[in-house]
This record gives sequence, structure tokens and C-alpha cells, in this order.
Amino acid sequence: MATIVTDVLVIGAGAAGLMCAIEAGRRGRRVLVIDHNQAPAEKIRISGGGRCNFTNLNCRPEAFLSDNPHFCVSALRRFSQHDFIARMEAHQIAYHEKTAGQLFCDGSAKQIIAMLLSDLREAGGDLKLGVGPTSLEGGTDGFIVGAASETFVCSSLVIATGGKSIPKMGATGYAYDVAAQFGLRIVDPRPGLVPFTIGPPTLDAISALAGLSTPARVTAGDRTFEEGLLFTHRGLSGPAVLQASSYWKTPSDVSIDLAPGRDVLTDLKIARQERPKATLTSGLSDMIPRRLALHLAETTAGDLRLADLSDLKLRRVAEAVQDWRLRPSGTEGWRTAEVTVGGVDTRDLSSQTLEAKGRKGLFFIGECVDVTGWLGGYNFQWAWSSGWAAGQAA
Ligand SMILES: Cc1cc2nc3c(=O)[nH]c(=O)nc-3n(C[C@H](O)[C@H](O)[C@H](O)COP(=O)(O)OP(=O)(O)OC[C@H]3O[C@@H](n4cnc5c(N)ncnc54)[C@H](O)[C@@H]3O)c2cc1C
Repeated sequence: MATIVTDVLVIGAGAAGLMCAIEAGRRGRRVLVIDHNQAPAEKIRISGGGRCNFTNLNCRPEAFLSDNPHFCVSALRRFSQHDFIARMEAHQIAYHEKTAGQLFCDGSAKQIIAMLLSDLREAGGDLKLGVGPTSLEGGTDGFIVGAASETFVCSSLVIATGGKSIPKMGATGYAYDVAAQFGLRIVDPRPGLVPFTIGPPTLDAISALAGLSTPARVTAGDRTFEEGLLFTHRGLSGPAVLQASSYWKTPSDVSIDLAPGRDVLTDLKIARQERPKATLTSGLSDMIPRRLALHLAETTAGDLRLADLSDLKLRRVAEAVQDWRLRPSGTEGWRTAEVTVGGVDTRDLSSQTLEAKGRKGLFFIGECVDVTGWLGGYNFQWAWSSGWAAGQAA
């Protein structure tokens, strides 16, 4: 069995691992990145519909969830969205802002992968694909990582294997196993940015709405997101729901306003005065999509003429539109979650370098750490920033 000696071994050739390897290589460290997949950075490739929402102009610590909300500040400040944008521009990769600061490639996410691989080569780093660790030992002055046909010996070991979301793309809980092996704590990982599932009878009642999307304000825990909501065959999805899902813990309710920014009760009362012969569906259709209006009219007061509806009934309708309380039966889980909430406990890591406290040379970066961004490019920015920070020290 071949033994390969290197200064820095990075396990995981995703966004964080490649960024870290580039930075460590630029400091003159011998760097090797290994990944059990046959291709690097698969999540970059498929992200943002193939165009990768690679950062967000409004990136700020408040857009991240963590048991320790201040942990991400240092890395995000030292390697910010502007630093990553500068790299894109240096490589002449064209991009555009889609909405709310979200930056996407004009062409393809593959351009970002090509940029990272070219920077890695230039920095003298190596990449070995199809190699997964089978054993790990940590001594006083380094680590020995066993794989099927090689043994790797390194002084710095960087765990960049991501979270558990989307196992069929190669996601594993390896980082948590390593953290546990070296006595680091874990914040229970759970799927984030994931659709809600809804059980019967609510699902039966809304099944006819599958495919419909509408603006909404969705509240879970103490957070509210106003974006699109999509009715699906199994529950609810769309950006507002995905965002709220990261804050949702089972069992608890979410509350949904299907007519954000409006006062439905007042508007219905005005409609009743101005168009008494109009049906409730017609009155609601001024505020929400007609299919949804029909459903809500039928399930609240009946599709009666507005003139026949009392104030009390209108109030009930307005509540159903603007304060729909529902308890998801769960989420679509790891199969479709865009991220993992939770992970390696930040209390056991340095916020400057991402090195494990009390375990010299061991680093955790990217999604495996208990730092999770909102939808909109924040998760890649955390991968770039944490990878960069570890790359200055590994
Ligand atoms: C469908 C989808 C779309 C997304 N779109 C966006 C977006 O547009 N913008 C955004 O900011 N975020 C997006 N995300 C989230 C983003 O992809 C992740 O937050 C980011 O990729 C995390 O980077 P990482 O390097 O920490 O982990 P990863 O990118 O997951 O990389 C981890 C690497 O480690 C390897 N690995 C895992 N286990 C092992 C093991 N045991 N041995 C060896 N190798 C291993 C994996 O093969 C992988 O290559 C999306 C996620 C998904 C699933």
C-alpha cells in the first residue's frame, strides 16, 4: 500500500475544501485534496439551476443560523462576498444579480469549478478523486488517514465533507464521526431549506392546489420570510417555506399569510359595500390567485354573495387567508434538503481559523460546521469564507 506524505490533507473537494486547499497551497504548503466522488464540487455544478448562486451582495452574519450567532463574523469579514466577486472578475466569469443581492453566473456553474481547479493547480495542490477514508488516527504531531489503496500522512487535516443533505450526491455524516472521534460536540444536524410535508386531512383539503404558487409570509419559530410559496402534492415548498424550514422544529406550527401586505378583512368589507352581488371567490380573487380564492371560499364561508356574509364570517375568511396555522407532519428530509442545519459545535472551534480547540492541526470547514445560511448564496459564501480562513492556518 502506497504512503503519501503531505502537509495538508483536505477531505472533501467541495466549495470549502477547494478554497482551503488553494489558500494553503499559496502559502507554500504541500496540499492534497481527496474526495470519494468521481467528480469534484458536484453541488456547485447543480446549484442555482446550473448557474450557481455563488454569493449574496447583502451577506451579513444575521443571515446565518447557529447556536453561536457571532461565530461566523470573523471568517465572513476576512473573506467577504466582495473578495469572492473579485476572484470571479479576475477569471472573467460574467455574473448577474437576480434578486435581493443573489449573484448567479451568466453562463454555467462549471466556470466556478474550472476557476477553483485552475487556482488549485497554480497553487501547487493535488486532487485525488474516488478516494474515501476508511480509517483515521491522530497522533501528537499529525494524522494518518487510511484509504482502500493508500495511506495519507499529514500534519494538518481539514474536514470539508459537507453536511448530510442529498446522500445520492455523495453527502455523508463523516465530519460528525471525525468530530466525535476527537471529542468535539455536535449540534444535532437536521435538514434545512427543505419542503414541508403535510399529513391528512389538511393534505387532502389542499391537494387540488398542487402546482399553484403565490406570494406569502411564512413564520416558523421567531422568523418570518416573505417570498413565494408553492403548493406541492405532498405539502408546501417555495422560497418562503424553504427559508422558514430552517427555523422549524418538530412538533410546532407554522403560520402563513397568503396575502402579505394587505388587510383582507378591510378589503372584503369594502368589496361587500361596492359589489354586494359579487361572490366571495370573486372578492378574494382581487387579492390572491383565483384557484386559491375558490378553495378558501369553499372551506371557510361557502362561495356566497358578499352581501350575504356577516362581519364575523368575513373575519373568519380573513383569518384563514392571513393567519393560516398549520402543523407540518415533517419535511422532505435529507433527500431534498439544500443544507444541513446544525453540525460541528462552534464552541469547539476557533472562529479565526476553524481549527479544533485542543486538537492542533484538525480543522472543520463549510457546511459540516454549525453555521447555516439562508437561501440566496449565503451557504456558498460561508464555504468560501470558512475555507479561506482555515487555508491561512492549516
Ligand atoms: C440542490 C442544491 C442547490 C444548492 N444551491 C445553492 C446555491 O445556489 N447557493 C448557495 O449558497 N448554496 C446552495 N446550496 C448549498 C451549497 O451547495 C452547500 O452549502 C455547499 O456546497 C457546502 O459546501 P461544502 O464544501 O461545505 O460541502 P459540499 O459541497 O457538500 O462538499 C463536500 C464534499 O465532500 C465529499 N465527501 C462527503 N463525504 C465524504 C467522505 N466520507 N469521504 C470523502 N469525500 C466525502 C463530497 O463528495 C463532496 O464533494 C445548494 C445545495 C443543494 C443540495
